[in-house]
Amino acid sequence: MTIVPDEKDWTWVLSRPCPECGFDAASTDPSSVSGVVRGMLPRWRAVLERDDVAVRPEESTWSRLEYACHVRDVYGVFDERLKLMLTQDDAIFADWDQDRAAIDGDYANQDPAKITEELISRGESIADAFAAVERSQWGRTGMRSNGSAFTMVTFAQYFLHDGVHHLHDVESQSAATS
Ligand SMILES: [Zn+2]
Repeated sequence: MTIVPDEKDWTWVLSRPCPECGFDAASTDPSSVSGVVRGMLPRWRAVLERDDVAVRPEESTWSRLEYACHVRDVYGVFDERLKLMLTQDDAIFADWDQDRAAIDGDYANQDPAKITEELISRGESIADAFAAVERSQWGRTGMRSNGSAFTMVTFAQYFLHDGVHHLHDVESQSAATS
């Protein structure tokens, strides 16, 4: 069995705590996003130093390396969307096919050291970008091309959950197999 494309619409995380990682996006202060992202970067470094980083726990689940590639790309995609929301009123951004990105980007065969550097560099960039959002800008709006509407606040909360959730995934993989 190979990876099953994730077609779930994760916007429900904005209305209730995630049962898998425990993160409560709706109660998250968007001004904390920058600090939380920075705090996760050393934990990603530790995950990527594991000898078994490229091993899938099962055929249908991404390896830690593949998750790290995904999060690196999420940081890049959301950084672009953030800039769009800050510069365009009612910005519309394309939906992003994460499973296509994993195949096109050959996530499974990347060099963990290179991914560590890229993930940290993009993480720092988006942390800086969120830190620079001014109080008056949190009400700005944007929409994903599939119709999901965001304010800067829900955009920040949605974004933060994604990273928290995947770090939870890979760290609980560690616990299960070590
Ligand atoms: Zn979660």
